[in-house]
Amino acid sequence: MTKLANYLEGRWQEGAGAGAPVLDPVTGETLATVSADGLDMAAAYAFAREKGGTALRALSYAQRAELLSAIVKVLQANRDKYFEISLKNSGTVQNDSGVDVDGGIYTLSYYAKLGSKLTAKALMADGTPDALARDNAFATQHILVPAHGLALFINAFNFPSWGLWEKAAAALLSGVPVVAKPASATAWLTHEMVKDVIDANILPTGALNIVCGRPAGMLDALDPLDLVSFTGSADTAASLRDHPKIKHEGVRFNAETDSVNSAILGPDADDDAMGLLVREVVRELTIKSGQKCTAIRRIMVPESRYAAVAAALADKLKGITVGDPRNENIRMGSLVSTSQRDAILQGISQLEACSDILFDGRKDIAIQADHANHAIVPPVVFGTTTPDTHPLVHQMEVFGPVATLMPYRDTDHALALARRGMGSLVASVYSNDSTFLAQAAVALAESHGRVHLINNDVAKVQTGHGNVMPQSNHGGPGRAGGGEELGGLRALRFYHRLAAVQSAPGVLEAIVN
Ligand code: NAP
Repeated sequence: MTKLANYLEGRWQEGAGAGAPVLDPVTGETLATVSADGLDMAAAYAFAREKGGTALRALSYAQRAELLSAIVKVLQANRDKYFEISLKNSGTVQNDSGVDVDGGIYTLSYYAKLGSKLTAKALMADGTPDALARDNAFATQHILVPAHGLALFINAFNFPSWGLWEKAAAALLSGVPVVAKPASATAWLTHEMVKDVIDANILPTGALNIVCGRPAGMLDALDPLDLVSFTGSADTAASLRDHPKIKHEGVRFNAETDSVNSAILGPDADDDAMGLLVREVVRELTIKSGQKCTAIRRIMVPESRYAAVAAALADKLKGITVGDPRNENIRMGSLVSTSQRDAILQGISQLEACSDILFDGRKDIAIQADHANHAIVPPVVFGTTTPDTHPLVHQMEVFGPVATLMPYRDTDHALALARRGMGSLVASVYSNDSTFLAQAAVALAESHGRVHLINNDVAKVQTGHGNVMPQSNHGGPGRAGGGEELGGLRALRFYHRLAAVQSAPGVLEAIVN
């Protein structure tokens, strides 16, 4: 049995003991084990800061962008292996694994390209000088300099590739060393990718580190100037926020957590717009079995369209083939683990208490898998005609192929329902009325990190409700964690420190130009 080793202090180190199993969620086979027991995290972090950080900061942004390009080449060369690992460990079909594997590679290439155009200086100017004295004799200029700490990534199980690279791209480009801590359930893919990059000897020693499992002292060993970027459940984020290093010592903490995202059909809703919404909801329910933080959980439609949308969803969903991703005809594979399956089934029971089941794949779809104790759950669509009186449908994220349809009376009602997610990653809106789309965008922007507006003109070229593109902000206020990632160069701000420099205009110019 392979025990996934940890790469710290420039060498592979095995954790003590037997470790926790990494499983195939369809067959139940143990694929590997993870252990972080007995590791010296203080020494590992010191090495990353001193060796990795110093070496990365000695390079220009453009040189670091070249490192990202070299990582892209290594990952591309090993794509087939990564798809094989995803199939076994995440239980996903090739198409869904692509969102993770190719999504990670694409994000790295995007930042490689962006970074190649950045300044040769060791800092980035933030805005332009502002006068502090008459005749501009004295002025202030804000600058961003790379943080000297390390970036610890505590990641969720659903994106073992993209989750690492979407963060590492911005951190490494900024000159900040990375310690990746993947979710134990799917650590194998992250581990394999990091191993391939380490073996290719692309990065300075200490720039990229990985710890699999959950080491003692993971947060205790941080310095106040280190950074933590967390992706996972709101409950875990809340407990990490309480750690003294974050709560009292100022370790910067970015959280991407769960989110009850919406799709809204506009009041004008013609058949085209309805078709676009239905197609997108089906995609979001089935891709990665709905295990995407951005997946559509609530669907708001005009009262007059409620029955038609329910029927169209049921019609499309009953044709989805669900089962073991090894079978070529399967479109939707497994959840990540039997414990996730049990959590999803429990969430379904809770929603059943306050809403009707409009489509139940558990009855209407035959699961194609040979193993009895698999983690596969087919899609389930709920409906409630009284969404105002059921807080659970707005609050509970069932992290699987589950969504709830609800009717709205008018535009204000639709937007108010979307806001009841208390802060979400994304809302998508389907309409051919530009005035309504614009109104929705402004109203939803305050409570959503991304607003995805779809009309017939963009139907064929749009990137999808749930696809996180590095060009756009990823994150959301409130229960979505309050974090911000990606969004082009905005992502680099987290890995930099901001300072105002006050001096004579000539001095300021020499600093930034
Ligand atoms: P999770 O249970 O919160 O775990 C996330 C990470 O935190 C894992 O690496 C886990 O390690 C670690 N962890 C858990 N408890 C910890 C503790 N006390 N101290 C230190 N680390 C701890 O979440 P998950 O089940 O992996 O992921 C599903 C959730 O993530 C969903 O709610 C989903 O919405 C959210 N998500 C959000 C985004 C986003 O960008 N907003 C993206 C993907 C997923 P172990 O695995 O070793 O336990």
